[in-house]
Parts: sequence; C-alpha cells; structure tokens
Amino acid sequence: MRAKKMRLVTVLAASLALALSGCGREGGPGGGGEPQVQQDVAQNVQVAGSPTFDRMKQKDRVVIGVKEDQPGLGFRDPVTNQYSGFDIEIARLIAAQLGFDPNTKIEYKPIPSTAREQAISTGEVDYYVGTYTINDKRKEQVGFAGPYYMAGQDLLVRSDNTDITGKESLKGKKVCSATGSTPIQKVKSEQLTEPQNIVEFQRYSECVQQLLDGQIDAVTTDDAILKGYAAQDPDKLKVVGKTFSEEPYGVGLSREDNALRAKVNDILEQAATSGEWKRVYDATLGKSGSTAEPPKVDRY
Ligand code: GLU
Repeated sequence: MRAKKMRLVTVLAASLALALSGCGREGGPGGGGEPQVQQDVAQNVQVAGSPTFDRMKQKDRVVIGVKEDQPGLGFRDPVTNQYSGFDIEIARLIAAQLGFDPNTKIEYKPIPSTAREQAISTGEVDYYVGTYTINDKRKEQVGFAGPYYMAGQDLLVRSDNTDITGKESLKGKKVCSATGSTPIQKVKSEQLTEPQNIVEFQRYSECVQQLLDGQIDAVTTDDAILKGYAAQDPDKLKVVGKTFSEEPYGVGLSREDNALRAKVNDILEQAATSGEWKRVYDATLGKSGSTAEPPKVDRY
C-alpha cells in the first residue's frame, strides 16, 4: 500500500517536472525549458565611466533586450515563461561577469528587429542580445560589442519544395522576412523578388506560420534562426543551406557608452579563451551537431 502510494507520488512528480521543464511534445530543440548554463557571478565589478552600468547598479538589475520567438537563440517558453537559447546564454554570461546574478537580477524585454535601435538609444534596455548584426548604418545609432557569433542569410522552404535552391531562384516567389532586418534589406536592394512578392512581419515566427499555411514560398533570414524553426518542424520545413551574406552578431548598447562596450568586449574575449563560449554554444546551437568557433572581437 505504502509502496504503491510512493510510486504514484513519483509518477506525479515526474510528470509535473516534465510539464514544467517543457520537455513535452512542444519542447523541441531549443524550444524552451532547457537547463541553463550555470554562471559564477563576478564580485566587486567596476566599470568606470559607464552611465549604463551606474543605472544597472542603481536599480540592482539588468534589463536585457532579446527575441522571444527564435528557438535555439532567444525563445520564451509560453508555459513556463523561461527564456532559453544561445543569445540568452550570452546575455546571462555578460550579466554574471558584470556582477549581476543571472538567475535573479535579469529582466528580459522582447524587442522585435525594427525597434532595437530605439530601445537601446532611449535606455529602455541596458543592452541587447538578439541575432543583432553589426553594421555601419546601425553604428550611427547604437554601439556594438563583439561579434560573438557569425551567421549568414539563408532560406527556409517547405520540405517538399524543389525549385528554390538559392537566392537566384526567388523571382516570382513570395518571400517573407522581418521589418527592420538586414535580410529584408537585401531582398529589396538586390531585387531578389518583385516588390509585390515581398511580405514583411514584425517577427519571423509569423513568416514561418505563413510558410506552413502555404501563403508564402520562402522565409529569409540568418541560417541560425532558420535552423531553429526547421528543427521544430523537420517533416514540413527545411533550410536551403546556401548562405549569401555575413551576419556578425553583436551586443547592442548605448552608442555613447564606450566604457561598457570595452568591458563587454573584455568579457566576450575572456569567454572565448576560457572555454565558456564553447560551453554555452554546446548547450544550445551546438546540440544539433553543428560546430562553430568564437569570432575575433572587433574593437572599433
Ligand atoms: N541578423 C539580422 C539582423 O540583425 C537578421 C536577424 C534579426 O532580424 O534579428 O537584422
């Protein structure tokens, strides 16, 4: 009787744990609820001359801009509200090295591609980690530490598609991407398809839904993002796998805050040499079997 009761308790506890960890059918690779990488919190950190750091200290927390719908990179589990992915781990690593406990002192703010510059420059977020390509145009408005990862623009199509084989095969096809992103910019500037065939949303997940529904023919953005969607629906979606740009991911921060930029660059360099970067990569993007090296930090 007692043993039976114990067993029942165990089964209930196990299913509760499974539900809470999001390991059910919806879980998927990077689909939320993954155990996060443990970080040691640095003590007595000083960042002399950084207004952003002073602000973080004053409110005793870090507000980090992220994506919430990009599995494997920046994803919010709708059930547990827990964030997971490579970008989230990079954001946590930086917070810990700035002296803030990533488990208790981070507030995540989902910000879509098109609203990033404003969120950073108005101080709505202290820094931003979300598949954010470093480029000169954006540097007019924000600062960038990094890069901490190199991605490339690619295409996501339905798995039964055979005629979309690369960027040259998009004419006459309906192509979707996110407003304010570098990939949508490329579709337009290189006229990869006709203006009436370009579909734009705030979030890539909306494009993916349209692709699954047969409303559009391809989603274009960084390969790392597309692989995350394909892994969630491997029977229905595939990544073409021919990248046609370089997208160095940076940590977005206030353009004026050179002290914080230098400090985050130090943190990223140290993470690369200590093996911490690899630990974070292996726990997220690397789980699919792909490999990568940390890129060289560019202190402009
Ligand atoms: N990395 C590209 C960009 O920063 C595409 C991904 C995104 O929109 O976040 O525009």
